[in-house]
Amino acid sequence: MTTETRIALITGGSRGLGRNAALSLAQRGVDVILTYHSRRAEADAVVTEIEAQGRKAATLQLDAGNAASFEAFAAAVKKTLAAVWSRDRFDFLVNNAGIGIHMPFAETTEDMFDELVNIHLKGTFFLTQRLLPLIADGGSIVNLSSGLARFTTPGFSAYAAMKGGIEVLTRYMAKELGHRGIRVNTIAPGAIETDFGGGVVRDNAESNRQVAAATALGRAGLPDDIGPMIAAFLGEENRWVNGQRIEVSGGVNL
Ligand code: NDP
Repeated sequence: MTTETRIALITGGSRGLGRNAALSLAQRGVDVILTYHSRRAEADAVVTEIEAQGRKAATLQLDAGNAASFEAFAAAVKKTLAAVWSRDRFDFLVNNAGIGIHMPFAETTEDMFDELVNIHLKGTFFLTQRLLPLIADGGSIVNLSSGLARFTTPGFSAYAAMKGGIEVLTRYMAKELGHRGIRVNTIAPGAIETDFGGGVVRDNAESNRQVAAATALGRAGLPDDIGPMIAAFLGEENRWVNGQRIEVSGGVNL
């Protein structure tokens, strides 16, 4: 096994779970390329924090909902790997970037559906496909799903359908990339206190209470409940876990 420093690429690393995973990976000695969509300053702040831990990091802009941009994005990743690391491969891909749209099934518009499918499902599919030549053999991919793909909460039909698609896609990716020693798994968080969905789980007391009541461990999740798990999960000690969905939710709706 290589003793080279591992490099992770995390989409949506400027805030929330991606940010936390980036910092957690850095704590474990992994260097990070993180992407942002519009909040460059937040992404730069994460880089500063990672560098303060003695690790290397870089940011790149990405619109996960625009598959036509992925070829140029892959070229930018390649350039960054060469410039910052003198390398041509990275080891870990975390497909985390995403948005939430809360709307009853009967009122969900085609535009809402398209935005969700483009960012979550089409984005994960084609971004990973484009990045394949840059992922080292023996690497690892984590795709972010949601507890909502297992249980039903009214208002998330389109969002959860995308996440369900990601879970199926994960198994196919694991099967088809296994010959390169690349393992692919789904991490499905429960409701976590981030900016996601307008920050509803964090900022709406009633939502937060409902999540806590449905959770065996009795509270809503925090970014610190997820990022370290992703970082550890990508590590060598989990090398035989492949094609799986792991829910990280404190035991919600058991
Ligand atoms: P946040 O809203 O806190 O952060 C979202 C991140 O995704 C930001 O870095 C943002 O970039 C980026 N992003 C948003 N839109 C795009 C886009 N079109 N292209 C590229 N990047 C984009 O969300 P969370 O951290 O909470 O969520 C992360 C993932 O976890 C998502 O896939 C979500 O579905 C999933 N998840 C979240 C749960 C929760 O309760 N929080 C529960 C289960 C799953 P920028 O800062 O530049 O806007």
